[in-house]
Amino acid sequence: MNIEQQINQLREELRQHNYNYYVLDAATINDYEFDMKLKELQALEEKHSEFYDPNSPTLRVGGEVTKNFNTVVHEQRMYSLDNSYSKEDLLDWETRIKKLVDGDVSYTCELKYDGASISLTYEDGELIRAVTRGDGIQGDDVTTNVKTIKSVPLKLKGDYPPKFDIRGEIVLPYEGFAKMNQERIAAGEEPYANPRNTASGSLKLQDSSETAKRPLDCLLYNLAGDRLGISSQYESLEKARSWGFKVPQESRLANSVDEVLEFINLWDEKRRDLPYETDGVVIKVNNLQQQEELGFTSKAPRWAMAYKFKAEQAVTKLNEITYQVGRTGAITPVANLEPVQLAGTTVKRASLHNADQIEKLDIREADTVFVEKGGEIIPKIVSVDFTKRDKNSVPTQYISSCPECDTELIRKEGEAQHYCPNVHGCPPQIIGRIQHYISRKALDIEGLGGETVALLVKEGLITNYADLYDLTKEQVIPLERMAEKSAENLVEGIAKSKEIPFERVLFGLGIRYVGETVAKKLAKHYKIIDAIVAATEEDLVNVDEIGIKIAQSVREFFDAESNRMLIDRLKNYGVQLQISAEKLANQTDTLKSQTFVVSGVFEKVSRNELKKLIEDNGGKVSSSISSKTTYVVAGANMGPSKLEKANKLEIAIISEDDFLNLIG
Ligand code: AMP
Ligand code: ZN
Repeated sequence: MNIEQQINQLREELRQHNYNYYVLDAATINDYEFDMKLKELQALEEKHSEFYDPNSPTLRVGGEVTKNFNTVVHEQRMYSLDNSYSKEDLLDWETRIKKLVDGDVSYTCELKYDGASISLTYEDGELIRAVTRGDGIQGDDVTTNVKTIKSVPLKLKGDYPPKFDIRGEIVLPYEGFAKMNQERIAAGEEPYANPRNTASGSLKLQDSSETAKRPLDCLLYNLAGDRLGISSQYESLEKARSWGFKVPQESRLANSVDEVLEFINLWDEKRRDLPYETDGVVIKVNNLQQQEELGFTSKAPRWAMAYKFKAEQAVTKLNEITYQVGRTGAITPVANLEPVQLAGTTVKRASLHNADQIEKLDIREADTVFVEKGGEIIPKIVSVDFTKRDKNSVPTQYISSCPECDTELIRKEGEAQHYCPNVHGCPPQIIGRIQHYISRKALDIEGLGGETVALLVKEGLITNYADLYDLTKEQVIPLERMAEKSAENLVEGIAKSKEIPFERVLFGLGIRYVGETVAKKLAKHYKIIDAIVAATEEDLVNVDEIGIKIAQSVREFFDAESNRMLIDRLKNYGVQLQISAEKLANQTDTLKSQTFVVSGVFEKVSRNELKKLIEDNGGKVSSSISSKTTYVVAGANMGPSKLEKANKLEIAIISEDDFLNLIG
């Protein structure tokens, strides 16, 4: 087998595994084996760039950056759908249809997925373009981002037509959405409001490797094109499935409006078990010939109808508005409700978001309110029943000082949230920061839980995370629910946290916008806390993937004398505030501001070791040659196109030995 065949075979194999895993939900190999095969393919592709394929499975991780999304006119317009809410609406629709077409009419019933609509164009079985709906006539070209969604096939199988568009919905399943929000909260950021907006926002990210990290899925439901050789909607779903698309299995054929209603009633209940949000059912005339006869109104097809599920709503009384203070000082207003049943759970509280929201809906205490549960984690108030409002009721006066420490609140330009600026004196902020510091992904202190932290603060034993290291067994034993043994475990757990690596300590400090990944980046770049403390905003934004918002927040944190004092104390206790000596010993600045491209096979070190050596010595590894490349490190069998490009741009090509000499 020659190299090209080898590459093609690997691509084919990986494609099949992707399909099994992301479309069929039934993997046939484990992650490790998959990664090994992917690496093998990556290595071959790098060596043989002449076999480059924009739709190779190796290109799913993203990396390309789009500054402005091009506007593309849809070859076939993307219509909206008419809505119906009752059996009568559906019967009216059927009557209208039967006036326009001959013969019996049957329908497909599909679920209405709540996400961002997308149109995918395929030519000769390859994904050419992915465009958002936009205004229906033209949308944004988001191909680079869509390619990172693993259930979108880049190459098709079976007897697909030479050219067609397929429409569907990009959704963010609940589980992935919840996980993203947990991470945001851990980084002190506002959680996203709902899966749908987050899905559409994900398509418009400039850095496709960010999109790749989001657990998006793509569900397809409509084919558009000429001469597709298909006679019904139901058949088109089956066909699309056979070409490798993820077409949900729930759709059914119905021969009457009554059968349609059966489907609706079934799924109005069962949709709660689905992993993603749905907001209704879409009913389509099944026969494509009849669809054609029916055609479109200016806005929607006459042959399709959406039936909207009633959003899960409940009516209850708003007893009181209270205000919560987060660890970053952000204030969240909360509606405390008369308990009410909603979508299978008892609801006692609802989010009110911020002052603007309360004002907009004119929400007041003692109001009768409508509560709704969508994809949000906690339910929200959608409106007030003004007919039930007491005539003596007065508008809600948003608090102006902190409910916990009475400090006057601030609100920054352009931000919706109010903040309590009393960073070091406000109990929930103090407790929240220490709880974050000890949490699993930060210092992971065993034997110490969130409630104990609150207790320790209340008892005046600690006021910040550095104080933890001064705690003694004797101080802790008298606390509620503490015994000799648990006190011992607590003190031991705290001592053990001194071994936790720098990057996790950095995350634990609770700097706003510094989540796990950013902490890793900063630790790797600066190696020691003093360097971060000394870095200017301009220095910081020069670090890969650190933007101005993060840079400002880091600066703000270390500009506070109190924080610098905390750091000094942590240092004295022996907490890791630089990367370990072992890691450091292997790191130098020798290759600072040099960019390397690695190509070919090496003898003394593997390609990955070589890349690590470059990074450990302060250099940057890039995958493609440009005028910014300092050296190309070439092993045996360097790809011919890389060679040509390096020569054209007059970039020095060095051998493995040259490189090793370079770093001594
Ligand atoms: P609306 O935005 O409420 O007018 O609803 C129309 C949108 O529903 C379409 O643009 C699609 O993005 C979306 N949709 C979700 N599921 C389906 C489906 N099974 N068939 C057609 N459209 C759907
Ligand atoms: Zn406060």
